[in-house]
Amino acid sequence: MGHAASRFRRWALAALASVVVLAVVLVAVVLAVFRFGALPLDHGTILGGGRVEAVVEELGPIAIGSYLIALENGGYALVDAGMDSEARAVRSVLRRRGDGARDVRFIFVTHAHGDHMGGIPSFPAAEIYAIEADAKAIRRARSRTVQGLADGDVVKASGTEVEVFALPGHTPGSAAYLVYGVLFLEDSAAAAYDGSVQANWLFSEDSELNEESLAALARRLEGRADDVQQIAFGHQGPVDGLGPLLKWASDRGLR
Ligand SMILES: [Zn+2]
Repeated sequence: MGHAASRFRRWALAALASVVVLAVVLVAVVLAVFRFGALPLDHGTILGGGRVEAVVEELGPIAIGSYLIALENGGYALVDAGMDSEARAVRSVLRRRGDGARDVRFIFVTHAHGDHMGGIPSFPAAEIYAIEADAKAIRRARSRTVQGLADGDVVKASGTEVEVFALPGHTPGSAAYLVYGVLFLEDSAAAAYDGSVQANWLFSEDSELNEESLAALARRLEGRADDVQQIAFGHQGPVDGLGPLLKWASDRGLR
């Protein structure tokens, strides 16, 4: 009995040690990808010729980005809604502009991960949009009506055109949106400190499919590169133009 017990204790200690080692490795990887080596994403970064503002929530070392877009005929759209269910960061930016949560009329969700749709309940007046495959998950998680989008859709949001691209891979229903010359790739890709862009494998459900989707998008936009002035991400700062995405695709032999 005593022998079995001590064997169990040894086994439990070894198991605990491996869990601790794994946790440390995971934290190091997350830090490496999201913070060190990544292009920093600053709260208040202005994009899209002054019509788009980055709103950043800090989760420890991780920056979670959503984007507030001033619409042509008034009101706002959000690309993603952050993690905080009270959306304090977005609401404080709105307050500074003399507006409120009810002025957010549209939320375009890039994918159904908690750090991109958490703030939805704070915007009761907003119509929610997502690619159908992820719209289901958002309806379930947030019990809200979500309009299902498909690749190639163009949504007229209070006079502003939002172009929709399906980017399956990070999640089955991941989307990119193109608004005011800003291509929102959010978590499908990541920007490094040197301004280069990579496909994002971290927390991606199907990394290979994500790479294929990104490369297809690069090829598709190549002929109209002038339409993309900036690329914005979910956890890193923006890069200028379509060039970095085209370069990534070329380097990977996908272009
Ligand atoms: Zn994600």
